[in-house]
Amino acid sequence: MALLEVRDLTVSFDTPDGVVHAVNGISFDLDPGETLGLVGESGSGKTQTALALIGLLAENGKVSGSVRFRGQELLGMSTSELSRVRGSKISMIFQDPISSLNPYMTIGDQLVEVLTHHRNLRRREARARAEEMLHQVHLNDPGQRMRQYPHELSGGMCQRVMIAMGLLCQPDLLIADEPTTALDVTVQSQINTLMGELSEQSSTAILLITHDLGVVAGLCHRVLVMYAGQEMEMAGVDDLFADPRHPYTEGLLNSVPRLDRARSGILNAIPGNPPNLLDVPAGCPFSSRCRYAFDRCRERPGFEALGEGRFKRCHLDALPAAREEVG
Ligand code: SF4
Repeated sequence: MALLEVRDLTVSFDTPDGVVHAVNGISFDLDPGETLGLVGESGSGKTQTALALIGLLAENGKVSGSVRFRGQELLGMSTSELSRVRGSKISMIFQDPISSLNPYMTIGDQLVEVLTHHRNLRRREARARAEEMLHQVHLNDPGQRMRQYPHELSGGMCQRVMIAMGLLCQPDLLIADEPTTALDVTVQSQINTLMGELSEQSSTAILLITHDLGVVAGLCHRVLVMYAGQEMEMAGVDDLFADPRHPYTEGLLNSVPRLDRARSGILNAIPGNPPNLLDVPAGCPFSSRCRYAFDRCRERPGFEALGEGRFKRCHLDALPAAREEVG
């Protein structure tokens, strides 16, 4: 049995302008120890998918479908049941570490609180474990960090604290939403390596939300490409990079910055913008930006199984043109 089974997950928001269809019936599984990358541009539904899984949608959000974690349905669970699961078995690292930490509590007290609350550890034991975890995330002088407040630490240090907090209870599932976006490249790389190591050591599954395909290549086993709240393609990471089957995936890969393109002034961004989620087209949602669009694309394609764990949502049998190599 998969650790996490998501089926036909739909998320919408009632707004004064109408209903925003943020996630439109997506399904995926996640196995223990596996890292699945959710990728796509802003507004593709990645973050709303993650928030829906753990019951943290905004108040005007509506969710339907099924989210089974270790066989237990999470959608419709009471707030107290869900917060128990969230704290001890599922952790989330948010994009902005500074606003996710409590500014009025020391780092140590925040970490200790997680352990005393969710693991019933005594304070002394919890402090030792928290300090050890800060050491594991390569924060120098963990004892000193424990006594400091978030504003006394750099953004990179706070993000390491968030990762320590996320892994403190050895969750079965870690949901990481753009965990390194705000950090400089060196720290990004260290933190991604660290998450990979810790996942391997403790069999923690990771759902990694990112728009950074370099991070995906280094950390993920499988990738789900999302656009306008729908799945466009799902594949193993090597297959996706070597042989994308969907025009949107091809466009994302071709838009990865490359030194040779920068020198020649060639930019390969996907033209146009994602559709308005208040009014998603009835046919293929990518049709207005797709260079291969044809008559049939007025009908919405299904998410078709291609074998060997690959899926795509596109009427084309194969991409017509050879993709420009991404180095
Ligand atoms: Fe492009 Fe048509 Fe495929 Fe959509 S269904 S991605 S418009 S070719």
